[in-house]
Amino acid sequence: MADSRAGRGGRTQEEIRQRHLGELLRRVHVEGALSRAALAGRMGLNRSTIMTLTAELAAAGLVREEKPAETGRAGRPSLVVTPEPERVFGLAFDVAVDRLVAARVGLGGRILERREAVRPRAGVDLDDVVGVLAGFGRELAAAAAPGAVCAGLGASYCGMVRRADGMVRYGPHLGWVDQAFGAKLADGLGLGLPVEVGNEAHLGAIAEHTRGVGVGADDLIYLHGDVGVGGGILVGGKLLDGDGGYGCELGHMLVNPFDGRPCLCGSRGCLEAEVGEEALLDLAGRSGELFGRDGIRAVVALAGQGDARAGRALDHIGDWLGVGVVNLINLFNPAVVVFGGMLRDLYPGTAARVRSRIDAHVLPVSRERVRLATTALADDTTLQGAAELAFSALLADPLETLTARPPSPGRTADRPRGGS
Ligand SMILES: [Zn+2]
Repeated sequence: MADSRAGRGGRTQEEIRQRHLGELLRRVHVEGALSRAALAGRMGLNRSTIMTLTAELAAAGLVREEKPAETGRAGRPSLVVTPEPERVFGLAFDVAVDRLVAARVGLGGRILERREAVRPRAGVDLDDVVGVLAGFGRELAAAAAPGAVCAGLGASYCGMVRRADGMVRYGPHLGWVDQAFGAKLADGLGLGLPVEVGNEAHLGAIAEHTRGVGVGADDLIYLHGDVGVGGGILVGGKLLDGDGGYGCELGHMLVNPFDGRPCLCGSRGCLEAEVGEEALLDLAGRSGELFGRDGIRAVVALAGQGDARAGRALDHIGDWLGVGVVNLINLFNPAVVVFGGMLRDLYPGTAARVRSRIDAHVLPVSRERVRLATTALADDTTLQGAAELAFSALLADPLETLTARPPSPGRTADRPRGGS
């Protein structure tokens, strides 16, 4: 159907404006303060269009414009556009195997306030997890600045998640099958907003690409160690999550099928069975004695002090991690492979083994440029990924999304949105 307002490619002027508003807001959200001139250059628009777009976002309380610091150059300096982190925030939640985390994250990605609970692994009940996280979330929302608006809710979960409704389909490490996590958390929070839920390693890949060690690398592989190993693969900047969103299960990539260790999934010789926490502690002779993230760090420290058994355990992990990474590099030719979660602790002590596998088995043309790195976001990679989910609706359509959001509870005063 023809539309008299249709512009290039059949888009209406309104659609083009909405897309530009979203892109401008995304740029300052991701890159921080940018001058109007820099925005014009990045977006391929003229300065007067940038000025109009910025004015709309500023009137809505999403950005502010400031004079830049003295540049020393002649001429009128271009105003700098900065996101408003205190007035517009998202709530991010992270369900890892050993801990529950919630945070209020400002527009621009800075964690403003957080709550964290250590959680026992056994007997994990959906209602208990939701109860803790919803309590944290309500406190964090209530502590927001007067008039602040919650733009959205995002959660990271250590298992396979149905994106449409946040249903955890399979979360073996917590023993969850078909648990309505997203819906129950939304109910518990009572903020009138849905909770977007994603797989932790998928979100980790997005976070490292957006703000971490993978900025500028559109072909990125993220390996996340918790008890098991999860993965996220970005190709051309897009997540390869498959038909149902359950893809990138790199932890269940088969690396050692004939005499490999049994895996929680029922198979044998999966990557996570060979490089996970249980394998490391067992091989180091510390099963039942050490536990979790602290246990992994202790084994790495022992190996560093010359403990031969701990050293051999790390060598085993390095060999099989190397085999997994070799396959991934040959398949996807990534610019960077990122190690997060407990693999952030394990990788430095296994790097020589991983590299020697790569030297031996990766095709030279794929090997010559690939970078291996640990996360730049420390233990907040998955939480930051959840925050990006929380902001996704706002960044897709800033003004409409903001209009639809209720003011946050507690210290509510005037809405930041001007006009209407
Ligand atoms: Zn498996």
